[in-house]
Amino acid sequence: MANWPVHSRDATIYGTVTAIGLVALAIFTSVPFSTGWLQAVIVISACGTVMVVFPDTDHHNSRPRRYAMTASLMLATGFTVWALLSAPHDYLSNALSPAEMVTDPEIISAGLILGVAVLGVIGFGRFLDRLPHRGPTHRAPGMIFGGIATGGFAYLVSVSSIQFTAAVIGFLIGAGGVLVHRVRDELS
Ligand SMILES: [Zn+2]
Repeated sequence: MANWPVHSRDATIYGTVTAIGLVALAIFTSVPFSTGWLQAVIVISACGTVMVVFPDTDHHNSRPRRYAMTASLMLATGFTVWALLSAPHDYLSNALSPAEMVTDPEIISAGLILGVAVLGVIGFGRFLDRLPHRGPTHRAPGMIFGGIATGGFAYLVSVSSIQFTAAVIGFLIGAGGVLVHRVRDELS
């Protein structure tokens, strides 16, 4: 079983090789970067990097687990702040009194969203706690998750002409990242 320094080094190598490979692919197949290929390359190689360390989120005190929890909570908070800032009421220039705040429908709904998101993250942590170490996240379910997450992000950031290709390549590279982790665990 390999530890964090080994997996994180593999992740860096995998992400770099993937990025170079995808840029080369674009050059050789003359896909113009203006079609959004560059965003796809960045997202796919970044997700691929994450997927090499992702399987160890099933280990309670592991760094990937702590990073995943922190990132999820930051995303939930960021989304709530963004929702408030894009609400019709301008909270920055038109501050509310504490009494107005607790009755403001937009603040109440943003608070509810944040509460549900935090509970969701805690629940997900509990779910991961129940998984045996080197169980599903290291096997086919982990590869499918890695593939769908990477392919999904690649699909979202790409323009329609390359969306399908980006999603398929993203799926393969995300699933491949989990496989790289598994192979390293087997070898060491
Ligand atoms: Zn592992």
